[in-house]
Formats: sequence, structure tokens, C-alpha cells
Amino acid sequence: MRTTVGIIGAGPAGLLLARLLHNAGIESVVLESRDRAYVERRQRAGILEQGTVDVLRAAGAAARMDREGLRHDGIELRFDRRRHRIDFPALTAGRSVMVYAQTEVCKDLIALQLKEGGPLLFEAEALAVEGAESERPCVRFRYEGREDVLECDYVVGCDGFWGVSRPAVPAALSRVFERTYPFGWLGVLADVPPSHDELVYAHHDRGFALLSMRSPSVSRLYLQVPEGTDAEDWSDDEIWAELEQRFETADGWRLERGPITQKSVTPMRSFVHEPMRHGRLFLAGDAAHIVPPTGAKGLNLAVGDVVTFARALTYQKETGSTELLDAYSETCLRRVWQAERFSYDMTTLLHRAPGATPFEERLQLARLARITSSRAAETDLAEAYTGFPHD
Ligand SMILES: Cc1cc2nc3c(=O)[nH]c(=O)nc-3n(C[C@H](O)[C@H](O)[C@H](O)COP(=O)(O)OP(=O)(O)OC[C@H]3O[C@@H](n4cnc5c(N)ncnc54)[C@H](O)[C@@H]3O)c2cc1C
Repeated sequence: MRTTVGIIGAGPAGLLLARLLHNAGIESVVLESRDRAYVERRQRAGILEQGTVDVLRAAGAAARMDREGLRHDGIELRFDRRRHRIDFPALTAGRSVMVYAQTEVCKDLIALQLKEGGPLLFEAEALAVEGAESERPCVRFRYEGREDVLECDYVVGCDGFWGVSRPAVPAALSRVFERTYPFGWLGVLADVPPSHDELVYAHHDRGFALLSMRSPSVSRLYLQVPEGTDAEDWSDDEIWAELEQRFETADGWRLERGPITQKSVTPMRSFVHEPMRHGRLFLAGDAAHIVPPTGAKGLNLAVGDVVTFARALTYQKETGSTELLDAYSETCLRRVWQAERFSYDMTTLLHRAPGATPFEERLQLARLARITSSRAAETDLAEAYTGFPHD
């Protein structure tokens, strides 16, 4: 097989890249190791930055999002049993975010790709990227019980944190920046209308909690839990009781309970691999970087990377210049590090760190008080939450 761009992975990064390239008249083939049902069911992100919404619209992939997505103009910070709303449009000249699940973004992009785009092969596992430094890189992959080779002009590794692309960059040229956290998130999906119409980020002595939603009838809720927690150790009643305590307010706000349909634990990690390009191999999304989910940035960063790649390749096709492709890693990393900073700040602002001293706990409350009493501090949070520009 031969194509212009070989894309490994059909998560949001790979699927959107295939769509952007199709729209620019550039051929691609997507290889995805899992089956379609698995990819469409994998519960993950749910918050789309303004820039991500704009990109999906411009790509012709937003019809259902515009019908079913929920535009959110703010979030609530909760601490000391008090509530404080951050008003995004008022602080950012009209910007907002969209609540629309990653599963739905993927379903929409898969349907479009299968209908209009180039080949998207499910259960096609990339085994290795070879010849990244040559003019003709290729991907060795297994499909329908046979090994095959996809020859490309460029390979884009959109295969997530555990994929084969990043290891194809020689170790001597790689630098990794990493931090793990001594806690994770126990996340549940519940068939109950969200108890608040915007996301609630709660700081509490017992640990962090987040109220989010997938639709007007499905709540998504998270609890900070110690690293290594097994979701099955928590009964549904224990989960609701803990959520009630962490969300409690002085004004009598109530959390509605409902049947829990899914629960899982997500570890928290910050990770950046530099550079994001080696020869004709480009890394995008979680293949190159991970953020803890507190800032809701992972999916949005993946979108930023593939927009940068598609723009650079289109420029090369139109002008013959590789200037933008050569700048890919540097361009992406500017946004990536801003998102890493914001995600780290939100995580350390809101979680209870095991072993934190009373002094550190007071500082955390002082940081929260600063955000809720200074328009400048609030604006800083609102700008970062609604998203950094795609440059
Ligand atoms: C619980 C949770 C909550 C989150 N919440 C948010 C949020 O609110 N907002 C936000 O922006 N982000 C959030 N994120 C992060 C977000 O989900 C990820 O950043 C996003 O999925 C990255 O997309 P990707 O396409 O780069 O990688 P992935 O979605 O991981 O996709 C990679 C794809 O590559 C495939 N693959 C892997 N190896 C191979 C191989 N060898 N051959 C072929 N295919 C392969 C995988 O099967 C997968 O389909 C959250 C993540 C989690 C876990």
C-alpha cells in the first residue's frame, strides 16, 4: 500500500487529521488497532475549547455537535462550602466551551471518513515505523492475519501514550519531561440529569471532586482517590455519599443520585516528549504529551497538533516550502507547555496532596481566594480554560 500520509491511530487526533487532509485534497490512510465499536465507546474527554469547536465546524464535522452539544459559558469553583462562578464570555471577549463527549466526536469523524474520506482500517495494528529519516518512511502493520507495509511520504503517530510511534524516535534524540501524581480520579457515568447546569470543581478537605455531564440526562462525576485505587472497591452508595460530602455547600445545594452505569479509575500524569518530529515522522496528541485531566486539555491539544500539521503540509503542497513542517515541533510545543502549566496549576490548586503541610494547605486556599477576588486572576483562568490560540 502507498499513500501520502500514513496515520497511526483513530482517536480524535488521527480521525481529525484524516478529515483535514481530505478537505485539503491530500491522501491518507488511517490504521487503528482496535475495532470500531471499541473506539466509539471509549469514555474520555468531554470539554471542547472554543478553538476546537471552530476547527470542527470549519472541517464540516460539527452538524451533530451543534445540535446536541451544550454550550457552557462558565464553571463553578467550590471551596469552604461556598460557590464562585467564573463567567467565560465576560472575561474573554465572548469565548465559551462546548460539552460534547469525545465518543461523539469520534463517531462523527468515523462516519464522515468512511463515507467521504480515504481508507480507515480497524483492527489494523501498526507494528513499527521504519525509515523516518528517509524520503520514504513506512509503517509495518498487521491486518486480517497478514503483515503488510504502508509506504508514505509522511507518517503521523496519533497512537496515544502506549503506541509504537514515539519509540521510533531514537533515544539519543529524545527528551522526556514527566511528573506523576500520588492520586487518580474515580470517574462514574450516571443516568441522572446533572445537578448543576455548569461544571463544578470542588476543593475539599477529603479531596477534589468534579461534577460534569455528557448530556441533559447523563451526569459524569469524578472523585480524587489514592493512586492504585480499584474502582470495584467503591460501592455505588459509597461513591454518592462521598460526592455529597465534597460538593456540600452552606446554601443547601443538593446532588441528585441516579443509577451508575460505568466506573473506572484514571491515573494522573504530566508528560512531554521533545521533539515532536523526527525526520518524516510527526507525533501528535497523547503520543507526544499527556496532561492530568483537571484542565480538560488533552483532546484539545491533540486537535491543535493536527491542525498545525495539516496547515504545514498544505503550505508545503502549495508553495513547495517545508518551513512550516520544519517548525512543527516548536510550534506545537509552545501550546503544549501552556496547557501543561495550566493543567498542573489546576491540579495542584484543587487536589489534596497526601503529606501536604498545614502551611501548603493554607496557601492552596489563598490561591483559590485570589482567583475569586481578583478579576485579573479570574481572567487568567478563563483565558486558559477556553483555550490557547492555534498559531
Ligand atoms: C478519564 C479521562 C478524562 C479526560 N477528560 C478530558 C477532557 O475533559 N478534555 C480533554 O481535552 N481531554 C480529556 N482527556 C484526555 C483525552 O481523552 C486524550 O488526550 C485524547 O484521547 C487524545 O487523543 P489522541 O487521538 O491523541 O489519542 P487516543 O485517544 O489515545 O487515540 C489513540 C488511538 O491509537 C490507537 N493505537 C494505539 N496503538 C496503536 C497501534 N500500534 N496501531 C494502530 N493503532 C494504535 C488506539 O487504539 C487509539 O484509538 C481525558 C482522558 C481521560 C482518560
